[in-house]
Amino acid sequence: MTDRFTRCRYCPRMLTSEESIRRGYGEKCGRDRGLIPPKRRPAARPRVRRLPAPVPPAPDALPGQDALDLFYMQPTLDSI
Ligand SMILES: [Zn+2]
Repeated sequence: MTDRFTRCRYCPRMLTSEESIRRGYGEKCGRDRGLIPPKRRPAARPRVRRLPAPVPPAPDALPGQDALDLFYMQPTLDSI
């Protein structure tokens, strides 16, 4: 046990993992000092785009109020 560290060289904590002992410092101190690259975040899950639920016609709609067809690219309440 000549070239091995049992304590972190930056703080008084004991080194537990074999890799930390080989490095001579703990994982946290290594990350704090930029010696160890930061942990990779888990890949974000693809977002599922949910379409709004179809809305039934309003019971108080005036007769003929929704009788006209939508023209091409006409904005609707759903598209705003
Ligand atoms: Zn340390």
